[in-house]
Amino acid sequence: MDIDNVIPPEQAAHTFRLAEESAPECIEFLRDLVTLPSPSRGERLVCERVMREMEKLGYRDVHLDEMGNVLGRFGSGPRVLAFDAHVDTVGISNPTDWKYDPFRGVVSGGILFGRGASDQKGGVASVIHGVALAARIGLPDDFSIWVTATVNGEDCVSLAWQYLVNETDLRPEAVVVTMPSHLGVCYGQRGRMEIEVVTRGVSTHGSQPDRGTNAIYLMNPIVESLAELHGKLSTDHPNLGRGSIAVTEFRSQSPSLTAIPDECRVHIDRRLTIGETPEGAIAEINDLAAVKACGAEVRLLDYNKPSWRGFAYPTDKVFPAWETPVDSAAVKAAVSTARRVLGREPRMHRSKFSSSGCATAGLFGIPTIGFGPADEIHSHTVNDQIALAQLQPAMAFYAMFTEIYQAAAPGATEE
Ligand SMILES: [Zn+2]
Repeated sequence: MDIDNVIPPEQAAHTFRLAEESAPECIEFLRDLVTLPSPSRGERLVCERVMREMEKLGYRDVHLDEMGNVLGRFGSGPRVLAFDAHVDTVGISNPTDWKYDPFRGVVSGGILFGRGASDQKGGVASVIHGVALAARIGLPDDFSIWVTATVNGEDCVSLAWQYLVNETDLRPEAVVVTMPSHLGVCYGQRGRMEIEVVTRGVSTHGSQPDRGTNAIYLMNPIVESLAELHGKLSTDHPNLGRGSIAVTEFRSQSPSLTAIPDECRVHIDRRLTIGETPEGAIAEINDLAAVKACGAEVRLLDYNKPSWRGFAYPTDKVFPAWETPVDSAAVKAAVSTARRVLGREPRMHRSKFSSSGCATAGLFGIPTIGFGPADEIHSHTVNDQIALAQLQPAMAFYAMFTEIYQAAAPGATEE
């Protein structure tokens, strides 16, 4: 079956027309989302707003789960697809650094500015409207489509989907992540893990440093070795590139500022490429001469913070790299859908980030693709923004994907 021609031209034109008609409502919804601050673990207001929009658009089974994710569904067939968008954002740091108020949803020159505009409230708004359009046009009978508006995504990128797959009945055969891909198709991302190195010294009076062992001095050569190790990481992957190591925090502890510190900790943001393992990444650090010399402790960190609903779901901070094969039904369908929507060959998006794909594909092996409006270069910056013209093609993509996916994976629940 030629999946590029599954949707007849009249139906495609109808979909584009519906997306165009829905755009003003989608933009209003997006502005509301941006005006409601939703830091990780503080997403209540935005979740309530998402529920209202889903209910208005006719979603079935709209509900909050115990973690605080919002889910809504169209269709009731046995084959399940999920479209995911995380609703939380990072903070804003210094508000005076922002040209526009991060929570006012200012629109200027067709660009909407504000925290979360790119990462990824544009994805939230366009997928909720886009999947509703798919239902209006008519979903294939075999399918149930869940839209998951997930929480804690910035704090712990895979948490919501670990919970959804391990603790609920949701088992999609493929997942679309609505990441800011600038309307490119993403089929893999590096993974991530968080590691801490701890050195322990002996405290003494600051006036007599020679009598103690300064934990900061023990840490210094370790930090230098970590910077060198970053440059030596040799595992390379044709799509995802190399992994990386960055020291992102340096803390010490001493009984007083007039005493020698007896403990020092560094926090490491380790990005993993395919071919690297979490165990290997820990071992590389344990093998550093500077670590061995002082017997520093190297440990994987875990995440145990309660969600906005007070639900904690402890997990190791390991989020594996993932790649969905280019000849899989999910990637073929994504490329074909993007081609149809954009009227040109889509760009293959090389994301620098992590996403729910680290759980859906990285942990559970569910074929996953990423596609969404906005450009990740604006994410987490004081210029957070989205070009509103990208909402319409994103909606059309989410509206058409299921039918094209069905043609790419007819009747099969595996690829
Ligand atoms: Zn982010």
